[in-house]
Amino acid sequence: MTGRKDELAANLAKVERRIADACEAAGRAREEVTLIVVTKTYPASDVRILSELGVRHVAENRDQDAAPKAAECSDLPLTWHFVGQLQTNKVRSVVGYADLVQSVDRARLVTALSKEAVRQEREIGCLLQVALDAGEGGRGERGGVGPDGIEELGEMVARAPGLRLDGLMTVAPLTGQYAGRELAAFERLMDLSTDLRRAHPAANMVSAGMSADLEQAVAAGATHVRVGTAVLGVRPGLG
Ligand SMILES: *Cc1c(COP(=O)(O)O)cnc(C)c1O
Repeated sequence: MTGRKDELAANLAKVERRIADACEAAGRAREEVTLIVVTKTYPASDVRILSELGVRHVAENRDQDAAPKAAECSDLPLTWHFVGQLQTNKVRSVVGYADLVQSVDRARLVTALSKEAVRQEREIGCLLQVALDAGEGGRGERGGVGPDGIEELGEMVARAPGLRLDGLMTVAPLTGQYAGRELAAFERLMDLSTDLRRAHPAANMVSAGMSADLEQAVAAGATHVRVGTAVLGVRPGLG
């Protein structure tokens, strides 16, 4: 266990240095960027160590793994983010532990989240997941609403009881015009955030950047980076 703590501490220090350097290069204050550690596929014991090391935000992408982990870690001062594609039949479970859902991408999901948040007397922060590779009126390969669907979906979240519209999230596209152009993709997300904030000034979270591209996300203006591998190690298999 001590070995794992040393390993995670060293990895966290490296990631912290990368974020600090990226902030400095961009002329941004370090406090403008929040680190969210993506703990998917890793055990609750790692989440506990991360909490001891000062991590305050963790993210998960599959309810089956996240629900028992969050229950085991319910005594820790952590904010839980759900970042995976979310089926409506998992909403009841996810609303039980997630403080924010970053993968809101369709009306049916908004309705289900709202209903369940009201039932459980919770307020859920919502980020719209934007698919920058979506075609006109379409959705992304890995979920996400196309840029032209943001306004309407944002309005729906803002009006939904039990939900709070917090901002936008994206994953750098692997296909389409932004493939291999992470900085351009994140700058586009930033422009979309500026548009959204005209109608919803408080929806100022911009969640972008992972282990491989957090520098580009910080350069573009992201407020939250979601880092898994660089802190916890390479995940076995898919996940
Ligand atoms: C897994 C995951 C991450 C973290 O990815 P790494 O490359 O391991 O840093 C970030 N965001 C989402 C939505 C993820 O599913």
